[in-house]
Amino acid sequence: MNAKVWLIGAGPGDPELLTLKAVRALHEAEVVLIDDLVNPAVLEHCPTARIVKVGKRGGCRSTPQAFIHRLMLRYARQGKVVARLKGGDPCIFGRGGEEAEWLAARGVQAEIVNGITAGLAGATLSGISLTHRGIARGVTLVTAHTQDDSTLNWQALAQSGTTLVVYMGVARLQDVQQGLLEGGLPASTPVAMIENASLPQQREGRSTLADLQIDAALFQLKSPAILVIGDVVGASFVQSTPLCEPLSHFG
Ligand code: SAH
Repeated sequence: MNAKVWLIGAGPGDPELLTLKAVRALHEAEVVLIDDLVNPAVLEHCPTARIVKVGKRGGCRSTPQAFIHRLMLRYARQGKVVARLKGGDPCIFGRGGEEAEWLAARGVQAEIVNGITAGLAGATLSGISLTHRGIARGVTLVTAHTQDDSTLNWQALAQSGTTLVVYMGVARLQDVQQGLLEGGLPASTPVAMIENASLPQQREGRSTLADLQIDAALFQLKSPAILVIGDVVGASFVQSTPLCEPLSHFG
């Protein structure tokens, strides 16, 4: 028997940002393990599957990673088609690689289906073109939260000439601000704060590196949110794509 697990990126929230491949895999799935950043509306694509919630949200009650691993393995070994649904992209701060490695070591093949990561969707939906020609030579995705509390090389990031997209930064604004200022990024560098990207409750705030903490407090910035830091934020286009259309429009 060829046991297999789909590791599927569900995108940032808007169910219309799912890929066609994700939809197909969901249709096939008999058991779906769903993370809590995933919009439950996507479950419309697997109406008969058993749904297992395995939320792991920072600071909240959580399902230990080891338990999730074992659960996937157990269902896969029972011969079930297992889908693991993760927010955004499975391999961008999503442990997709770890899970695939763990399964492979036990003879279970994982197939990863990309999702649109929150940082990319959030920027676009907020009218920011992350690698706008003539302004940014690239984009760097970083997390402000590390498991071992190691620090980022802020100086290298500040001097990279790339737009910075910071995940999991809400509780670490001081580190981000201080690290980048000390690393040499100008205090006037524009920053966008994008909360709940692609969902109807999406909120966006603008600030500068100098005022980031104070503006985030005024804005009452809450997780899940990303920060986009760099001059491209000051050159925003006007975004007109409607947010989160009802899923019934989806074929
Ligand atoms: N794999 C996910 C990231 C998981 S880490 C992805 O590719 O998007 C969790 C962090 O992602 C959150 O702390 C937040 O920084 C970001 N995030 C996830 N969904 C988000 C959303 N809808 N809006 C803004 N940020 C989001």
